[in-house]
Amino acid sequence: MNIYDYSIEQLEQYFLGKGEKKFKATQVFEWLYRKRVTSFEKMTNLKKDLITALKNDFIINNLKIVAKQSDLDVYKYLFELDDGNKIEAVVMNHDYGLSLCVSTQVGCNMGCQFCESGRLKKVRNLKTSEMVLQLLAIEQDLGCRITHLVLMGIGEPFDNYDNVINFINIVNHPKGIALGSRHITVSTCGIIPKIKQFIKDGKQVNLAISLHASNDKLRNSLMPINKVYKLTELIEVLKEYIKVTNRRITFEYILLDGINDQKENALELVKLLKGMNCYVNLIPYNETSHINFKKSNQKTILNFFDVLKKNNINVTIRREFGKNVSAACGQLRANHKEE
Ligand code: SAH
Repeated sequence: MNIYDYSIEQLEQYFLGKGEKKFKATQVFEWLYRKRVTSFEKMTNLKKDLITALKNDFIINNLKIVAKQSDLDVYKYLFELDDGNKIEAVVMNHDYGLSLCVSTQVGCNMGCQFCESGRLKKVRNLKTSEMVLQLLAIEQDLGCRITHLVLMGIGEPFDNYDNVINFINIVNHPKGIALGSRHITVSTCGIIPKIKQFIKDGKQVNLAISLHASNDKLRNSLMPINKVYKLTELIEVLKEYIKVTNRRITFEYILLDGINDQKENALELVKLLKGMNCYVNLIPYNETSHINFKKSNQKTILNFFDVLKKNNINVTIRREFGKNVSAACGQLRANHKEE
């Protein structure tokens, strides 16, 4: 077992099982996530026999960086996992801090038409440790701290729910990396049963929904998941989320030229979201060579923005990062493969 798969609660159970005190878990956690040691020998406040036990029961490893690209304010990493699979993570330098976008699966089964990631079907879920290590490896490489975390890389987080929640627990824990809940955002294409689970679990992290269309017909054609979990049901469960958590939801809406970027689309979106505690993040499409969708022109984007704004929907246009480093999810892996 990899030590980075364990939350502090799971480590406590491990130590209790060995007849040890619970607080050993805190000590190990602090070594891993505060002092960032990468061998059990360096955990000098633990007894020798405990270090031996840890060495027998756990491995402690890092992720291999196989490629790195950077642009003005974006760094993109390609990692190789122990089984040879490759995953990506991206760091964006915002005025409010350093935001890391992690992958949650190798490949993705959601099949969204516009998305590069989905061209590689899901190979497997990432383990918790493989998500934790994306963050640790990048912080070590850059020599600075990540302040915001988004689960928007390759994969559908809610199709790997348990590992994702465990990952959030680890990075959020005050004795470790201590990233605040409000600085963590998990994004889903709308897997309703898992959104219901998420409401029950009461996690305080932000929820983002990849919407991209304002009616079932259009959404069906862009996102196959909508054929299973319809827009009206999705909106209903999200209203429930807002009621129970009293938190705001973010809707992501990619603007695709001539597909979903017209005035009628904006007006329909207004109707759909009216009165909800939410905000819409309009995303200029990041074009990829394998997919035919085009990015909406600037004027269309601004018009769409204006319609929402005039109708009192909170709206922002996402800043574009890393056009020169193929920063859209899946692009680095895909390009690397072709080279
Ligand atoms: N599966 C999750 C998280 C990964 S996708 C989800 O669907 O939310 C993260 C976001 O990037 C989604 O909103 C996705 O629709 C968007 N995205 C995918 N390809 C893109 C592209 N080429 N340009 C801009 N955004 C893209």
